[in-house]
Amino acid sequence: MAEALRADEGKFDVVVVGSGFGSLFFVEGYLRKRPAARILVLERGRANSHAWQLEHSRNSDIPPESTFRRPDGHKIWNFTIGLGGGTNCWFGQSPRFHPSDFRMRTRYGVAQDWPLTYEDLEPFYVEAERKMSVAGSDEMAVILPRSAPFPLPPHVPTSVDRIMRKAQPEFHFPIATARASVTTGDRARCCSTARCNLCPVDAKFTYANGFKNLTANPAVEIRVDCEVTHLDAANGVVNAVRYRHNGREYSAAGELIVLGANAIHSPAILLRSGLDHPLTGVGINEQVGYYAEALVDGVDNFDGSTITTALNYMLYDGDFRKEHAGALVYFENRWPFGLRKEYGRWRQLVPLLVAVEDLPQDSNRVTLGGDGMPRVSHAAISDYAKKGVDHSVAALGKVRAPLPVEQINFIEMRPTESHIQGSLRMGNDRATSVIDAKQIHHDARNLVVVGSAVFASCPCSNPSLSVAALSLRAASLIA
Ligand SMILES: Cc1cc2nc3c(=O)[nH]c(=O)nc-3n(C[C@H](O)[C@H](O)[C@H](O)COP(=O)(O)OP(=O)(O)OC[C@H]3O[C@@H](n4cnc5c(N)ncnc54)[C@H](O)[C@@H]3O)c2cc1C
Ligand code: SF4
Repeated sequence: MAEALRADEGKFDVVVVGSGFGSLFFVEGYLRKRPAARILVLERGRANSHAWQLEHSRNSDIPPESTFRRPDGHKIWNFTIGLGGGTNCWFGQSPRFHPSDFRMRTRYGVAQDWPLTYEDLEPFYVEAERKMSVAGSDEMAVILPRSAPFPLPPHVPTSVDRIMRKAQPEFHFPIATARASVTTGDRARCCSTARCNLCPVDAKFTYANGFKNLTANPAVEIRVDCEVTHLDAANGVVNAVRYRHNGREYSAAGELIVLGANAIHSPAILLRSGLDHPLTGVGINEQVGYYAEALVDGVDNFDGSTITTALNYMLYDGDFRKEHAGALVYFENRWPFGLRKEYGRWRQLVPLLVAVEDLPQDSNRVTLGGDGMPRVSHAAISDYAKKGVDHSVAALGKVRAPLPVEQINFIEMRPTESHIQGSLRMGNDRATSVIDAKQIHHDARNLVVVGSAVFASCPCSNPSLSVAALSLRAASLIA
């Protein structure tokens, strides 16, 4: 057991738990307003360099499943414990959420509205895209309005995308991605090797290549191998953060505490701290994904410049969301299930990844076991999502109508989308949310929660750009 608690040196302006997307972008935004702030970042994992990750073929020496339990057994949750968190393992897919995603209750009578709108977040989307040098096409503004161009030009589309884009200019767009389409000062150009969690050429945005300004800043102290166990809270204020390092227990005090330990570990820390708002851990969710393929006649695919080259929004939004989930269709420039077998027709294949939104359900939740470990119960996806899967499978023919399709095959469901979300939802009303519109905990007013835990609903799109934009916004409002 750890030795007696020791007071850490002095009091920090901000103590940050975790060093993933939510935490890093909060620190980035905070320092823009208060450059002299003294900030301590406590990270549970170690600093595994890009070279270490390539050599060991993994992002961390701590397997995610060793950090929580799954009483239901079947549902996989995937994340990285290590300096930089999800910026290490992510694939760099960076679409914004759709304006309707923030207004699901008002527009479609399901899920909850977010306590902010797409328009509120838009300037911070721009900042996050700049920080990550996101590549994309400004034509996307037709459905996702934007006030500034993408920082990098779009990736080279495939021959399949060219046909699709011509036929469906309102739905089919080059992917928005933090995989560089041209060489930048910090990153090489993506060369479409399609193993982005371990990018061999360092083309995607990561902690190591993207946050050199924080590592070089003497006001920011980053300590690794420091597992935060709980927060000392009393009378609506968090006074200190307790953590373990080398078998000893420490405490760090700060004016402002930022909790960004991911959507499983952040609620677990709150539950251990007695900050047990009734919705803590409740509603954890992620999208439901599957693979499908189309065999096409006479069009050779796979000539694009990155792993996923396009997004198709035909099934994403509309009044149908009153009845069933929407779906985002990713046009893949890789062949996870092999090429075609027929001589000379190897590339006449269109692999698709389809992500379907889910509804947060109270039965899916993070609790604490008797040993203090988080337990993630996930009984089932919602009927809304199940219907969305069925409708999208049936509608794939319509999506791919512009192509000379011979046959469409459903391949398989994906075990996880590697997105953990919604276990500490944000909202204006304490009865239906754990944190408020500024991401401040309803019951502890110097505690900010960041990361995908705060999502009020489960849009089809990948989460991390929105996590980054939300953190920049919260930092700008709070600092
Ligand atoms: C293989 C894979 C591919 C992905 N691809 C994409 C993609 O293409 N696009 C996309 O948008 N998203 C992608 N994601 C999801 C993305 O990684 C997450 O959405 C994002 O990281 C969430 O940010 P966060 O700040 O909530 O958590 P994280 O980034 O996971 O950060 C949490 C941090 O807290 C630390 N921590 C945990 N517990 C403690 C503790 N007790 N004390 C101190 N520190 C702690 C962790 O080590 C970590 O550094 C992918 C994820 C995976 C696993
Ligand atoms: S497609 Fe290849 S080069 Fe591009 S980001 Fe992924 S792994 Fe890196």
